[in-house]
Amino acid sequence: MWGHKPVTMNDCHSTRLRRTGFIGLAFAGAAALLIATPAFADALIENVNGITVDATGGLVRFNGLVISQDGKVVKRLKVGDPRPERPDFKFDGKGRTLVPGLIDAHGHVLDMGFSKLTLNLSDTRTLDEAKAKIAAYAVANPERPWIIGDGWNQEQWGLGRFPTAADLTGIGNGRPIWLSRVDGHAGWANDAALKAAGIVATTKAPAGGQILMVAGKPSGVLVDNARALMDKFVPKPLPKDYDAALQKAQQLLLSRGVTAIADMGMTINEWQAYRRAGDAGTLRVRVMAYAAGTEQAALIAGSAPTPWLYGDRLRLGGVKLLLDGALGSRGAWLKAPYADAPTQSGLPRMTGTQLRNQMSRAAMDGFQLAVHAIGDQANSELLDAIAALAETYQGDRRWRIEHAQIVDPTDLPRFALNGIIASMQPQHATSDWKMATARLGPDRLGGAYAWRTMLKNWVPLAFGSDVPVEPADPFLGIKAALTRQDANGEPAGGWLPDQKIDFTEALRAYTFGAAYAGLAETKFGNLAPGQQADFLILDRDISAAAPSDLPATQVLEVWVGGRRAVGEEAKP
Ligand SMILES: [Zn+2]
Repeated sequence: MWGHKPVTMNDCHSTRLRRTGFIGLAFAGAAALLIATPAFADALIENVNGITVDATGGLVRFNGLVISQDGKVVKRLKVGDPRPERPDFKFDGKGRTLVPGLIDAHGHVLDMGFSKLTLNLSDTRTLDEAKAKIAAYAVANPERPWIIGDGWNQEQWGLGRFPTAADLTGIGNGRPIWLSRVDGHAGWANDAALKAAGIVATTKAPAGGQILMVAGKPSGVLVDNARALMDKFVPKPLPKDYDAALQKAQQLLLSRGVTAIADMGMTINEWQAYRRAGDAGTLRVRVMAYAAGTEQAALIAGSAPTPWLYGDRLRLGGVKLLLDGALGSRGAWLKAPYADAPTQSGLPRMTGTQLRNQMSRAAMDGFQLAVHAIGDQANSELLDAIAALAETYQGDRRWRIEHAQIVDPTDLPRFALNGIIASMQPQHATSDWKMATARLGPDRLGGAYAWRTMLKNWVPLAFGSDVPVEPADPFLGIKAALTRQDANGEPAGGWLPDQKIDFTEALRAYTFGAAYAGLAETKFGNLAPGQQADFLILDRDISAAAPSDLPATQVLEVWVGGRRAVGEEAKP
């Protein structure tokens, strides 16, 4: 059932050891460099409370860093280690805490920027509040032909139903309105938008999509693949809009200590924005890009992944595919019907054959695969597909399963096979726990957001935010990983508390784990010698702070590639 070549736990363990050996080689090379040229060290970072994790998962403490002229880590210094005699630059950390630049393993960078530059409803607590905000935005932006926005969540409003086109009557002076749900898996249109897209009672939803109906007419909400019926009529942003969104996103990422991010589902327009920024020297964070589907990959990168560009700041190395939708909009594909909608089991967004064909095409050209799977049926299908493809595409493939939110407990051990990486988002668990319990019922949560089980099974774990679904704030993420409690401290003791993990494990998933998941662990991640010197200076020791104090962590300085990117004088 798992294919003809079962991989044992021991094989997984040896993958881990090989990885460690690789880091060991990088260390040996850098050490040789230090011995040969001790006086040429460019910078000495001194007097810090340095915290990182090693490749095998141990917490490492140090109190200084030597950085080479090209911005790489030469050595982590412990108390008593000899210091370079004449560094060109010396930085006194005054005892403050230094951690590696944090890495978001799953985000949507341009969407994040656009969501900050356009109408965003994620802070609205009721439908009325949302309507008031949409109306105010429409008045403030009279030149826009469409009112475009995102971030709404009917669960957060306590509405008990989806919003409808009728809810938008009288707003926007007759202009079309089109608003994405917070998870991007549904859109909410007004009557003018439905009319512009020609959506009527007899319109058929495409496969993998749904047109919600009220009294025999389209309600205004389009789910998953049905969104495309509207998207093709929406005015497209211009290159200057992309550039502004990218700069905004980078500013926000750096402000919360994120120095690298995997962009999960990039289009050619987004790639071109990265290239313009790289050429102009304004690409400040490192981007591990995953093309939205094999067509985009071929369009952007040709027949193979790109090399690292702009001093390890940009690489297209993988392809992102979507196998199902999200739990909130009941698009996640389940093995049994939803507990709160007994006629629905969610939607596969492609057939098993399509999935394997697309994965095969990408793998054949050497691209890494990152596939979105939220429901237990989607995860099961994807595990089957990986098992079949791993027969043909051997070696270090690092198959990524994005989200892996609801997994049948009998499928959990299969994540340990074929080098699969679990790419998960701690903040989803703390935002979703009430909704997920309602959707699944209490008896089907045995493999829900199962971080502890993944680690116990030696599955490489990478953490991200899925920004703009959740804020790209790893301090919120680490708190969620430690507590499994929402911002109100609920539920008491944490949701499914057996799945909590500890600080070292969480930090690893936001540093080495996220870099490893993006094939970048020799470039950056945990301040190992030879890596880019990407690090943060924080106002508190996050290894000792109470979880409830983590969200207030201030990022005082951000250094990327041995240069100060955010902080006092923002130099050298
Ligand atoms: Zn995503």
